[in-house]
Parts: sequence; structure tokens; C-alpha cells
Amino acid sequence: MSYDYLLVGSGLFSAVFSAEAIKRKKTCLVIDKRPHIGGNVYTEKLHGITVHQYGPHIFHTGKKGIWQYINQFAEFNHFVNSPVANFHGQMYNLPFNMNTFSQIWPDVTASEQAKRRIAEQSSSMAGKTPQNLEEQAIALVGTDIYEKLIKGYTEKQWGRSCAKLPSSIIKRLPLRFTYNNNYFSDPCQGMPIGGYTPIIEKMLQGCDVQVSADYFSDRNYFSKSAGTVIYTGMIDEYYDYCFGELEYRSLHFDTEELAVENFQGNAVVNYTDEETPYTRIIEHKHFEFGTQPNTVITHEYPVAWKHGDEPYYPINDEKNSVLYQKYADRASNEKHILFGGRLGMYAYLDMDDTIAAALSLAKRVL
Ligand code: FAD
Repeated sequence: MSYDYLLVGSGLFSAVFSAEAIKRKKTCLVIDKRPHIGGNVYTEKLHGITVHQYGPHIFHTGKKGIWQYINQFAEFNHFVNSPVANFHGQMYNLPFNMNTFSQIWPDVTASEQAKRRIAEQSSSMAGKTPQNLEEQAIALVGTDIYEKLIKGYTEKQWGRSCAKLPSSIIKRLPLRFTYNNNYFSDPCQGMPIGGYTPIIEKMLQGCDVQVSADYFSDRNYFSKSAGTVIYTGMIDEYYDYCFGELEYRSLHFDTEELAVENFQGNAVVNYTDEETPYTRIIEHKHFEFGTQPNTVITHEYPVAWKHGDEPYYPINDEKNSVLYQKYADRASNEKHILFGGRLGMYAYLDMDDTIAAALSLAKRVL
């Protein structure tokens, strides 16, 4: 045994934990089955443009301490996420705000008119308990916004009709009655200049790192290499799926360079109709206000997940939550292995939550 910690996975969770461990003079071996570090926040330069290989990652947080923490590792720019939606060629601002309402209903220009219109359109659900996502969305935003901006996008994302999805997926839909296209309400937001990979590199300084190294290729050898294992892979895989397989949604990304300076005028454009097979197009240069003569775009397609595919989004419905709890109970009895990160905890975690969870584990065990 030559290391204090073996970190399985080199994503943000492991990187933050390692940085804290190294600060406390611990030794760490970090392994990742992918051919690079960084997990899903990995970025690389393509034709001079920072490209987010696993979907766009916009840093935003309401936690001042986490903002200060991440700013040690990079300089952030003043990017503000203001996606737009394309529904059959018509453009709408997001999140749902006064710009969106006046685009959908040209006679609506003031907030009270918008509130009245939404109330009229959701009146069919008054006094009823929504039984599915469709009813929940109509109860919250009315029929027009649901039909144009929610239905097609959500059905593509989940691969199921909104009438067959649980209402719990959208407990609330933020409605803003001001002309404000800032998608997030968090006070701190921005993009790390140069991308996330340099952040992860800095966090991993002082660790031994092996990429293209799958823990399960030699589980015995890797486990014996350290006193404690921090495991950020899939928790069900760790236990050989003994209680059954947890389910996910997956994504397919299609990235290409175009010989144009500006393809869509915005970093993120969502396609909210049912017919377009992708959910959004990302134009990466706009995250860093790029002025290159060319551009790089990515089409993002949601796809059904099957064993062996990249697990992007956990499906936190009742069936999977019960299953996960069985694995979590078993994991709580372990002495030399700790589970963390989005796959180890089977949870969707934004980057600030991931950092907070890793810092909290580090505080507890180091
Ligand atoms: P990961 O990044 O998944 O890292 C886990 C690593 O473990 C992977 O590299 C994997 O290869 C490795 N691994 C797994 N099994 C093994 C094994 N057997 N052996 C070796 N290595 C293994 N958050 C935001 O705050 N803002 C955003 O805009 C945002 N956008 C997102 C967009 C998408 C499409 C997705 C999926 C997530 C987004 N997130 C966003 C969330 C963000 O990606 C996560 O918070 C973060 O990546 C979680 O880090 P992690 O270390 O837990 O997991």
C-alpha cells in the first residue's frame, strides 16, 4: 500500500478532494478510465476555441465560499447564461420572463397582463392536483408556453410523452415578471477563461494520475494501492449490480467546425419542437466572447441509456430511488471506501454542489 488515497475518477469531486488531501500532506493516486482528466467538465481547445466536450458547463452559485474557492484556480469572465428557444423558426427568450411573454402574446407588455394571461391559460387546472408533467406544466405556466417551450423539449429529453412523465419532475417553473434574460438567479456566475481542464490540472498537482485506467480492470491491485478509496464511479457497478441496475438518460454530442465567424449569435439555442431530433446547439466561442474567424458548434441529442453507455442524468424516480437506497445502505457499512460525486451518490449535482460535497467529505475525513 503506497498511497493514503486512491481516487477512482478524475472529475471535479475527486479533484477537489485531492487538492484538499495534498494540502494536508496526504498522498493520492487518481485514476480515470477515460483518456483524459476532468470527467464531464473536461474542455479542450479545438481550432483555438474552448470546447466543452460533455455538454456546456456554466459556473453559477449562490454560495459565496464556493465562488471564492473556485476563483483560486482560474480567472472567470462575466458570461451570463441567456439561452434562447427556437420553436419552428420563432425565437423566444429564456427563462420565461417578460421578453418571452411579449414574444408569445404580442399584446402583453406589462407584468400584470402576463400574470392574467397565464392565470386564464391555467384555469383548466384550478383546484385539481396535477397527475402528470403535462398537467403540472399547464397548472404553472398555461397552455401556450407549455405547447411551444416545454412539451417537445421535455419529451425529447426524457424519451416519453409529458402525459406519461411524473409531475414531480417540474415542481416549480421559474417565471420572471421583469425583462431579464439571465437564466440563473445566483449572484455569482461566469466561465473560467481557458476552460475547466486547467482548473482540474491545478487541483491535481502533487497527485499521481493515470488515465485510461479502469478500476475494474484490476480491482484488487488498485484497492491495495491505498489505505482509503474515494470512489466516484457508478455505485451499482461497484457492487456488481447485486440489487439491480440503476437507470440513466444518456446524451450524444456531434461537434463540428464551421468556416463562419458567427453561426447562431448565442452560446445556447434550445430547439423546443418535437420534430428536431436534437435539444440544443451550443456555439462554444460565445462562452468566452471569442473573435476567431471560425466557429465550433455541438448538436446535443438525448438518447436512451443502456449498459455501457455514458450515464449522464440519473433517473431519480421512485423505483431508482428505492434501488439506490439499498446500495447506499450497503455503502454506509464500508470502512475503507467512501462514495462521492454524481455517480457515487446517484444524484444530479451542479458543479458548486459537487465542490461543496467534496469539501465536506474532505473536512470530515482528512
Ligand atoms: P464526473 O465528472 O462524471 O467524474 C467521474 C469520473 O469517474 C469520470 O471521468 C469517469 O470516467 C470516472 N470513472 C467512472 N468509473 C470509473 C472506473 N471504473 N474507473 C476509473 N474511472 C472511472 N453543472 C453546473 O454547475 N453547470 C452546468 O452548466 C452544468 N452542465 C451540465 C451539463 C451536462 C450535460 C451534465 C451531464 C452535467 C452538467 N453539470 C453542470 C454538472 C457537472 O457536470 C457535475 O457537477 C460534475 O461533473 C460532477 O463531477 P463528478 O466528479 O461527480 O463526476
